[in-house]
Amino acid sequence: MKNSKELRRWLDDFNLAHPLVIAGPCSAETEEQVLKIAHELKDSDVSIYRAGIWKPRTRPGGFEGVGAIGLKWLQKAKAETGLLMATEVANAAHVQLALEHDIDVLWIGARTTVNPFAVQEIADALKNTDKIVLVKNPVNPDLALWLGGVERLYNAGIKKLGVIHRGFSTYEKTKYRNIPEWQLAIELQNRFPDLPLICDPSHITGKREMIQEVSQQALDLNYDGLIIETHTDPDNAWSDAAQQVTPTRLKQIFEDLRVRKETEEASDYNQKLNRLRVDIDEYDAKIIEILGKRMVVADKIGALKKEKNVAVLQNKRWNEILGKMILEGEEKGLSEEFILRIFKAIHQESISHQEKIING
Ligand code: PEP
Ligand code: MN
Repeated sequence: MKNSKELRRWLDDFNLAHPLVIAGPCSAETEEQVLKIAHELKDSDVSIYRAGIWKPRTRPGGFEGVGAIGLKWLQKAKAETGLLMATEVANAAHVQLALEHDIDVLWIGARTTVNPFAVQEIADALKNTDKIVLVKNPVNPDLALWLGGVERLYNAGIKKLGVIHRGFSTYEKTKYRNIPEWQLAIELQNRFPDLPLICDPSHITGKREMIQEVSQQALDLNYDGLIIETHTDPDNAWSDAAQQVTPTRLKQIFEDLRVRKETEEASDYNQKLNRLRVDIDEYDAKIIEILGKRMVVADKIGALKKEKNVAVLQNKRWNEILGKMILEGEEKGLSEEFILRIFKAIHQESISHQEKIING
């Protein structure tokens, strides 16, 4: 697949003065719910209505979607509101049904993008249709796998393509449901600047309070659109209740978002700056995380020292650490003075922790 303007032609056809907005419930639940939400979103910035019909669930027993009946509700919503309809497909049978029901946009979910067999099956079923197809990132942070999915569709003659950044699974506890790893999406943007890039702050954050912040970050990084889960009664949604917003809240989010309209030169500068700031923010977050982990280990050492009744400060070991760090710092262009200052501060914090453990 080559980067070319052809990739974003479908997006330009929307002729929007703002990023593309896709909104709608995580899942279609009832005909009434699908229609109600669609009507509330009709006269807003929303161009495409989303609703999951087949829901991939982590564990069995959860709500697995209403199935094909929901496609009829989407058809009705389209007839009544004029919004384009989008749903998730995970196999050839889903594609067939979606095509039969005139669904306009199909997205491939994160759990499907990880599986090249499934993506190929979907690509074959869609061969040479003119549907818009959006590929969500795989659950694991693997850019080649993500791009590979897009390429399978491209090679099947699908030319209206885009990608959705919905974040990545991690074992670590973080403030996100799926960590964004922005630099991965930025790398994709660098390689395919014309491939429409849409952010899914709902699945990245997992909580409605953070949707605004992450949407703004995406716009600052020049994303082409946002997909935001929206429900008239979020708390009682059958899936992903915590991350859905009401149509009223969605409108407010869009009023508050700063959409930059800039000269090309200014936007190039801002984009570069924003990308670099993302890197700095991620490194800073990692520094804090590592310092926290280091302190947990220092606490364990404190507990051991207490048990054996030994002194907190062990000068020989400390001087060894310092000597080693000064040498390693030098290799990375960091001055001796800086290393001394930073490690003295870290060491002091460890000593305070251990003293509290031993005396407390
Ligand atoms: C969804 O969009 O409702 C969904 C299931 O998303 P993901 O594939 O990103 O988990
Ligand atoms: Mn969802």
